[in-house]
Amino acid sequence: MPTIQSMNIGFLTSQTDARCILSPTTLKKYEKDGFSVRVEKGLGEKIGVSFAEIEVDQQTVVQQSDIICTVSPPDAVNYKSAQKDAIFISFYQPYMPEFSGEGYSGEDVSIFSLDMIPRSTLAQSMDALSAMASIGGYKAVLLAAQKLPRLFPMMMTASGAIRPANVLVLGAGVAGLQAIATARKLGARVEAFDVRSAVREEVKSLGAKFVEVEGAVEDKAAGGYAVEQTDDFKRKQKEVIAASVKKADVVITTAQIRGRKAPILVTEEMIKAMSPGSVIVDMASSTGGNCELIEDKMEVVKHGVLLIGDSELYLRALNDASDLLANIYYNFISLLKQDGEIKIDHEHPILSSALIYPKK
Ligand code: NAD
Repeated sequence: MPTIQSMNIGFLTSQTDARCILSPTTLKKYEKDGFSVRVEKGLGEKIGVSFAEIEVDQQTVVQQSDIICTVSPPDAVNYKSAQKDAIFISFYQPYMPEFSGEGYSGEDVSIFSLDMIPRSTLAQSMDALSAMASIGGYKAVLLAAQKLPRLFPMMMTASGAIRPANVLVLGAGVAGLQAIATARKLGARVEAFDVRSAVREEVKSLGAKFVEVEGAVEDKAAGGYAVEQTDDFKRKQKEVIAASVKKADVVITTAQIRGRKAPILVTEEMIKAMSPGSVIVDMASSTGGNCELIEDKMEVVKHGVLLIGDSELYLRALNDASDLLANIYYNFISLLKQDGEIKIDHEHPILSSALIYPKK
């Protein structure tokens, strides 16, 4: 792709995602860096921020921007009306089975998908998945604490002692570790399980017990992500998890396998064995869930247990999620700026991972 000498950047609103990807702080930074910024009318409204002075309609943003940012992929028509060599930046989830790449295929544009950024130290400041998972893990625990008909901490009162709540966290990635830390801060007794043995020490350092199951399959080539497990392991895992679920007041599940259906870790039988009033928050519900009977974006009671399916808990902290995302877009876009011009360095490890079209 040739170098783009103008530095026009545009931000579109999304019909399906309320997060705002520009903040007053990042707007100032873009302008200081020499970018001319335009936003689609309405951007920022949901978080109480106004960009009135740089608002235009959607068509104008698309037609006049060299870089077009949207939190969810834009309609296909936008690729056609964009300038030649325009760069689109969004979250495309190209690893999902239903992804097709339709819409921009054949167009003279470049597409970056921020969910393809490597989970490396170098890319930490633009790791949107981690930022959102942290918020989600925190909110999952607060939600459960609010719904549980018990308290989290141990409490000694004149009228008797209250035992601490038992919280089980399944999947100790970014969301799970934040959930463990939050539940511990609230005074709960916490157990956690993950197929990646690397997290054992992190779980313990947060003051939780690591539930051990021998024989997990780990694959270094998977970039740190979990991989599908053998049937024998799944059977052993089921027995061990069943015992922990039975004594848990709250179960938070976060286990995902990138690009595949989430593994079922909590079965209907296990739910039946829980005490009435217990709460399960399933953060993997958008990819089928870790818990049987879970319904995505719903709260349902089954066998006396409240099941909450929500993979977008970050939306419940919309302002913070928006601020972090605005920083992430800014940090990523900084990689596209060289000597006052926009340029894609195909050798850059982060840019080459995130570029999904055209593929070299
Ligand atoms: P994720 O959302 O893909 O999955 C959540 C957790 O569920 C993971 O820990 C995974 O191992 C676990 N899991 C999957 N299947 C399971 C099963 N059957 N039973 C129990 N647990 C199961 O994970 P994530 O939080 O997005 O993290 C993905 C990888 O990225 C991890 O290796 C993490 O350490 C790494 N990471 C690195 C950095 C960095 O800066 N270096 C930052 C963030 C994440």
